[in-house]
Amino acid sequence: MAIQWFPGHMNKAKKQVADRLKGIDVVIEMLDARLPASSANPMLAGMTSKKKALKILNKQDLADPTRTRVWIDYYNGLNDTRAIGLDAGDKSPAQRLISACREIAPHRSGLDKPLRVLICGIPNVGKSTLINSLLGRRAAKVGNEPGITKGEQRIDLADDFILYDTPGMLWPKILVEQGGYNLAASGAVGRNALDEEEVTLELLKYLIVNYPADVEARYKLDGVAEMLDDQLLEAIGRRRGAMLGGGRVNFQKTAEIVLTDFRDGTIGRITLETPEEWKDWLTEARRL
Ligand code: GDP
Repeated sequence: MAIQWFPGHMNKAKKQVADRLKGIDVVIEMLDARLPASSANPMLAGMTSKKKALKILNKQDLADPTRTRVWIDYYNGLNDTRAIGLDAGDKSPAQRLISACREIAPHRSGLDKPLRVLICGIPNVGKSTLINSLLGRRAAKVGNEPGITKGEQRIDLADDFILYDTPGMLWPKILVEQGGYNLAASGAVGRNALDEEEVTLELLKYLIVNYPADVEARYKLDGVAEMLDDQLLEAIGRRRGAMLGGGRVNFQKTAEIVLTDFRDGTIGRITLETPEEWKDWLTEARRL
């Protein structure tokens, strides 16, 4: 797969995050609720293992609600970790975010011991959307002060609650092959960095097993659960009229249709991994 860290960028981001982490009580990591494990940043996990953590499963409006619950329970079962689901339509993200952080770090409150929180996430996970919505409400933005690097934001969500935005870019890192496909399907990887047809076939393979009824309803097809991925891609192409000359299906065009439908939630509310599957994929990757 095409996305990997460039070592120079990695070291720079790592140092910036390490510097910022010094005075931080809680690290919020924004994850994509459709692929919570694949959208996590493994470097961050290594650096923040001793910190209290809040996982935000964002874009929950696009994810399978039953599986979002499973993921939230999974994270809540880890030490010093809480998780909440969120989406851009959430009316009071600040309140939910503040309460969840206070719950895991009750020792920090009051003006002399403000709770200091760092928010992180890979690109496209929805961090700017959330920060804008926080800024749009009662939060105040403070720039240009000592200790705040250029481009970094500090947002005072309450008198004793300070949110810092991560300096630098935290790109995803692909630990397992399926994670790469899931990131690509979600749109977290640039268009040119991947083979859309291959990504779509992997996506369809997963949907055939896990969400056949959604696919049938979206494309008005029958028997999806019995199809192979390439048969399904072809059937969708015919159904949607994505054809080349001579009655052949335009697979590239069909792949684009499926990816767009998946990304905007038109196929349904879909989650591409469960905690058990992720564990199995990791075990498999380590064996190879
Ligand atoms: P950033 O790169 O992490 O700052 O991500 P952005 O905030 O720019 O969001 C990336 C894309 O995801 C944008 O098109 C947003 O409109 C969209 N987005 C962000 N949050 C949500 C959400 O909760 N639900 C849905 N459906 N889309 C979202």
